[in-house]
Amino acid sequence: MEKKQFKTESKKLLDMMINSIYTHKEIFLRELISNASDAIDKLYFRSLTDDTVTLRQSDYEIRIATDKEARTLTISDNGCGMTKEELENNLGTIAKSGSFDFKNENEGENKEKIDIIGQFGVGFYSSFMVADNITVDSKKYGEEQAYRWESSGADGYTISEIEKEKPGTVITLHLKDDTDDEKYSEYLDSYKIHALVKKYSDYIRYPIKMLCEHEHLKEGSENEYEKVLEDETLNSMVPIWKKSQSDVSDEEYSTFYQDKFYDFEAPLKVIRQKFEGTSEFTALMFIPAHAPYDYYTKNFEKGLQLYSSGVLIMDKCKDLIPDHFSFVKGLVDSSDISLNISREMLQHDRQLRAISKALEKKISSELAKMLENERDKYEQFFKAFGMQLKWGVYNNFGMNKELLQDLILFVSSHEDKYSTLKEYVSRMKEGQDKIYYATGDSKEKIALLPQVESVISKGYEVLYMTDDIDEFAIEMMHEYDGKHFINVCKENLDLATDEEKEAIKQKNEDEKDLLAFMKESIGSDVTAVRFTNTLTKHAVCLSSEGEVSLGMEKILNNMPGAEEHHIKAEIVLEINSAHPIADKLKALFESDKDKLKNYSKILYAQARLVSGMNIDNPSEISDLICDIM
Ligand code: ADP
Repeated sequence: MEKKQFKTESKKLLDMMINSIYTHKEIFLRELISNASDAIDKLYFRSLTDDTVTLRQSDYEIRIATDKEARTLTISDNGCGMTKEELENNLGTIAKSGSFDFKNENEGENKEKIDIIGQFGVGFYSSFMVADNITVDSKKYGEEQAYRWESSGADGYTISEIEKEKPGTVITLHLKDDTDDEKYSEYLDSYKIHALVKKYSDYIRYPIKMLCEHEHLKEGSENEYEKVLEDETLNSMVPIWKKSQSDVSDEEYSTFYQDKFYDFEAPLKVIRQKFEGTSEFTALMFIPAHAPYDYYTKNFEKGLQLYSSGVLIMDKCKDLIPDHFSFVKGLVDSSDISLNISREMLQHDRQLRAISKALEKKISSELAKMLENERDKYEQFFKAFGMQLKWGVYNNFGMNKELLQDLILFVSSHEDKYSTLKEYVSRMKEGQDKIYYATGDSKEKIALLPQVESVISKGYEVLYMTDDIDEFAIEMMHEYDGKHFINVCKENLDLATDEEKEAIKQKNEDEKDLLAFMKESIGSDVTAVRFTNTLTKHAVCLSSEGEVSLGMEKILNNMPGAEEHHIKAEIVLEINSAHPIADKLKALFESDKDKLKNYSKILYAQARLVSGMNIDNPSEISDLICDIM
């Protein structure tokens, strides 16, 4: 029979498994049982809508069997089974990103690091930590032909046709020989298997059965015992969320979460709540410690699992969780929701909406608590998911402003740290009635903006907005606690004294011919050129007038489809009236208008660069500068 090769990355992971020095090899059993349970879930799901699946809820089971002589451990299920193609695709490649990330992170690292294996959903492959040969016999539900997948490790696998009566999957591990350090044969011991199932798989919803030896009094005898093999169910099957909270350790919650939601990291927060009232339900939710790799893409699907009295009826129920909290993973179990309810009906279910509202409230109050009591943790959370909260502020015309505004953070010029809006307001100077902010690619770049420097030098605090969504969210909020948001790079900061204002007004009036000439020289890119006395050391800066700021212009024009209707901010070139360049310009206006024209263009280009924008005509500007030199 032809031996097929594993895909490259699978082969590497396999090598690691086979040669693993990982001490928690026992997790392989949890992985196989979880797979079996998933396979039954799949068939069970199908049975809800497909009349050809005739199994009853009580028929489903997972079975463990051992054969000490043959040194084999067998895990079987009567779940969905796999076709030949599925065997090939599912077991010939690494299916889950978790495993893949793991491999990437560990490339070239030393072997000690392999200890983190247990944190990843390494799945089926983990069996190679304890077995030197594995066969997977599988028959897909509804198909005639069954197949055997077999492999002895990294050199490949074979697939052949076999006879198998019932649908489902039977996985047989031939255990490795015992060594001085490692007694693989303990996985053949009944007590060990009992313990492992209790430890890792107790909440699995289907019975995990094993034939166990029990001693009974011999019939008709008073003191003679005989050994009988009897079926024993090893797991309690009580879902973790149905156990009393004091019976479940943090570690168990973590394991449950990582196992179920394929995360290699423990959750930042576990939220468990039993709701009573018009609708009764239990929710077990988790806030992940990091964003899934596809979180900010179109492919990400939000949703909580929905159970009806302990039975899974929907894997990703979108309507349970609002978009702004889409990062929350977990499940809801309600006894009020009917088992056979269709997806369409669920969407309009009033009960579901009531649950969703209650969850939203709970999540926001838990986040607020975390912000208050566990600041570091909250900031870690915010780095991962803050963008989603800010997007939530903006979305739906600011409908969720009240709910979210105290959960968002911005880096502030005050100690260069994250700050809430409330904290900003509490530090406002006497007489300050606005919240100042500026936008840019990074806080370092923003801090260097001429306007920002000048506002800070006057003793005000500035919020640095570095995410695309920031300014849109702020604009949507309009104000916080009665204080308006002001982009310091838009005009009209109103920080000057009346005298200063009068002086600059006069100056602009006096020099209006010069300024008009400069505006003419630059062209339609700017709506005006003006002198300013708010800059400290910089010669020039740009500000904007009207609705669209410079930051918004940049973002809007980067959006798909923006080519068609290019959006332009109304840009004003501001010249520092106290800078020597101001006198130079005045002199040139009298003596050399051609030169002034070039100066104007160069100053405008400089101002764009200082604002973190590109210039459209770099070679022209470069030539102009060389001319001057
Ligand atoms: P994961 O479970 O993380 O997806 P695994 O490597 O454990 O990764 O399994 C790969 C895939 O093989 C599973 O996603 C599933 O489709 C399939 N599979 C594994 N075990 C079984 C089983 N007992 N019955 C049906 N399909 C299975």
